[in-house]
Amino acid sequence: MTVISSTQTGPVPVPVADAVRFRAACPDCRERFELMAGALRLAIGASRRTTFYSFTCPACGSAVRKPAGERIVELLSGGGVRTLRLHTALR
Ligand SMILES: [Zn+2]
Repeated sequence: MTVISSTQTGPVPVPVADAVRFRAACPDCRERFELMAGALRLAIGASRRTTFYSFTCPACGSAVRKPAGERIVELLSGGGVRTLRLHTALR
């Protein structure tokens, strides 16, 4: 057996936010694809009903909007997806 002694602990490559891809599916044409973070948009509203993410289907071109739960919000915002906060200034 050959034991390789690694005395060097070099820099570990870390995935860049721009390289993160998200799997999505289109409800219209049922095409599955991977989207870059820049192709997605996340809208955070005051309630869960107004919190959603949207993208344009690369296959059929339809605008897809899906509700985003807390985990999805964390996942998308952490992955560099453009986040839009919708604040209703109702008092
Ligand atoms: Zn589609």
